[in-house]
Amino acid sequence: SLKGKTAVITGSTSGIGLGIAHALAAAGADIVVNSFSDTEADHATARGIAERHGVAVRYIQADMSNTDACRALIEKAGACDILVNNAGIQFVAPIEEFPAEKWNQIIAINLSSAFHTTAAALPVMRKAGWGRVVNVASAHGLTASPYKVAYVAAKHGVVGMTKVTALETAKEDITCNAICPGYVLTPLVEAQIPDTAKKYGMTEEEAKEKVILERQPSKQFATVEQIGGTAVFLCSDAAAQITGTTISVDGGWTAL
Ligand code: NAD
Repeated sequence: SLKGKTAVITGSTSGIGLGIAHALAAAGADIVVNSFSDTEADHATARGIAERHGVAVRYIQADMSNTDACRALIEKAGACDILVNNAGIQFVAPIEEFPAEKWNQIIAINLSSAFHTTAAALPVMRKAGWGRVVNVASAHGLTASPYKVAYVAAKHGVVGMTKVTALETAKEDITCNAICPGYVLTPLVEAQIPDTAKKYGMTEEEAKEKVILERQPSKQFATVEQIGGTAVFLCSDAAAQITGTTISVDGGWTAL
């Protein structure tokens, strides 16, 4: 059980982050929910997790594209036994048309934020004598697709940072691993479906099956519950010697 542990999950009002928050709460952890906004809906999401699982849940606003805000998130959380670096965005364009500001934003949110939160969280974990860092990378942290230059670069960076974090904490009861999901049907992926359908002259249903799941041999989306279960496993005693590696949850994508 993760009772008595506090888990900070970046970008956790939606999709995979929210799924991981529910799974860690179900395992007994207290939760810090985060996003860049500060709306009634954000706080309601946090209350929903508390009510369903009977754990303490706080919402802390922090924009993961901002260095100081990343570090302030860990300070405001007070405790941070489990850090899940999940916040991430996507943008799709050929390299020569890829806007420089989109490159900077994706590197900041998908890669640099994990560096800043990890730097702030490691001293807290060392003081507690236990810690788990779970980075949500991607199949795109291990392999590439055209038109996703910033995303693929950031996710490969996350996998590299995962290994360094593991080596620097290897002698302590702290681990760091990356989960590499294939396609999961979250708002981030749903946003890519209309354009994909238009580009290939297909219905949205066909675009999902024939284009998006083309590289996922199972022909099924992974679910946020499956990613959540993987995060809980990485925080369990069974995973205490698993560090500096990646776990793919991708229906066979990276076996191709
Ligand atoms: P999503 O869009 O459903 O959720 C993203 C979350 O991040 C939201 O809570 C959003 O509010 C938050 N966020 C965005 N910008 C932020 C910022 N500047 N500061 C703080 N929070 C911010 O996306 P998702 O599909 O759940 O993706 C979550 C993570 O999983 C991302 O890192 C993504 O790259 C990764 N991933 C997703 C898939 C997939 O198929 N959906 C596959 C592999 C990896």
